[in-house]
Amino acid sequence: MSLGGRVALVTGAARGIGRSIALALARAGADIVLNYAGNRAAAEETARQIEALGRRVLIWQANVADGEQVNQMVAGALEKMGRVDILVNNAGIARDNLIPRLKEQDWDEVLDVNLKGAFNCIKAVTRPMLKARYGRIINITSVVALSGNAGQANYVASKAGLIGLTKAVARELASRQITCNAVAPGLIETDMTAVLPEDLKQAMLRNIPLGRPGLPDDVASLVVFLAGPGAAYITGQVIAVDGGLQM
Ligand code: NAP
Repeated sequence: MSLGGRVALVTGAARGIGRSIALALARAGADIVLNYAGNRAAAEETARQIEALGRRVLIWQANVADGEQVNQMVAGALEKMGRVDILVNNAGIARDNLIPRLKEQDWDEVLDVNLKGAFNCIKAVTRPMLKARYGRIINITSVVALSGNAGQANYVASKAGLIGLTKAVARELASRQITCNAVAPGLIETDMTAVLPEDLKQAMLRNIPLGRPGLPDDVASLVVFLAGPGAAYITGQVIAVDGGLQM
């Protein structure tokens, strides 16, 4: 139980990659603050699975793009769970379109959730982590932040911004033994990628040396490692989980 006694806040943890991360952290011994935006039924199902592992879980609805809602969530987590040792900024959305058709609103929403959302959560946990002189912050970016991708200018910009944020935070908080790293998934099978056209998925698959799409658990196992004692000397890094797509 490498994370026994730790409390982890995972954003967007009701389903997809966030659900796998929350369950994997719970399996490693952590109690979980399970943030969700709109899908209460999925959040409750994930919470049931965490409790079945013998861990404590606090479900909290908050839009990560809203700083006040995030502050209330972190205050609630500190009050009910006593501490927040690990933050996983997983919540994310995509609103894809080619630049001439990309609406300003779609630009703003994606940047607000994917980038400002992570900033809001990092800001809210920083004080308790500084006080504890311990913390693990893990930001879920994407391989497209490194390569670019047509039709995803807003998403790519938000995920590239998240890499910059990761490095700035890593430098700022390192002296207090708080690490901050980014995980960059490739093509992972979730609701987000289920909507992609089949021919596009097949074209992506042909470029993946390991020859298969990733599973949410492939991402979760790296997050557990980065949250645990074995990663104490790793900070400011971007690590891809992409079957070799980027190398
Ligand atoms: P997903 O299945 O669409 O799930 C997204 C999650 O984010 C949901 O739990 C959703 O909550 C939550 N969320 C959305 N907006 C939110 C907000 N404003 N506040 C709080 N939570 C919010 O996506 P996924 O594939 O698991 O992706 C998880 C992360 O991995 C995202 O950051 C995504 O960009 C990144 N990623 C995914 C892939 C991939 O291939 N799937 C590749 C690279 C990176 P509700 O369900 O409650 O609405």
